[in-house]
Amino acid sequence: LSRSDPLTGLPNRRHFDEAKETEFRRAQRIGQPLSLLLCDVDFFKRYNDRYGHAGGDECLRHLAQALKATFGRAGELAARVGGEEFAVLLPGADAAAAHAAAQRLRLAVADLAIPHADSDAEAHVTVSIGMAQFEPASMDQFDTLFHRADQALYLAKRRGRNRVVSATAVATS
Ligand code: GH3
Ligand code: MG
Ligand code: MG
Repeated sequence: LSRSDPLTGLPNRRHFDEAKETEFRRAQRIGQPLSLLLCDVDFFKRYNDRYGHAGGDECLRHLAQALKATFGRAGELAARVGGEEFAVLLPGADAAAAHAAAQRLRLAVADLAIPHADSDAEAHVTVSIGMAQFEPASMDQFDTLFHRADQALYLAKRRGRNRVVSATAVATS
């Protein structure tokens, strides 16, 4: 069975699901930090509407290149987990390291400078990123971590997109 996504060459959801279990168990066992980033393209439906589906596919390939260039260290895994959604596993990264990594990704995407005339965020393609950290006391399965990152991503969208939001900001918002 394939473990890579044909469009972008990134690890696919299946590959991510395998890696997430391994890393989650490792984090539980040895108490190593584990962070998760969820990244979603801003106004991508409008991008397709304006530049066509093939143009959208090309955009996703460029974004995948930015992900590969940003997350090349041992253990880091950037995967395409949905149509225009990417997940990044960062074993060993605490909140500060994960936040810095997320900002690097956001800026790498901005540096691609892919024109997006119908975005309300910027004149180029941007991404919103939610991040969360594994907390041994309150998380007994990976899904809890994923859900926390997804809530943070939702908040990043609501706050105007093209930004990084931490799950720690969700409860207080
Ligand atoms: P938001 O900023 O809130 O994320 O808005 P959005 O338009 O990005 O979100 P929405 O979920 O409404 O749209 C996602 C779009 O992504 C819709 C779908 O057509 C497009 N999409 C999903 N997978 C692919 C793909 O493989 N190729 C292309 N070209 N488009 C895709
Ligand atoms: Mg989406
Ligand atoms: Mg989107």
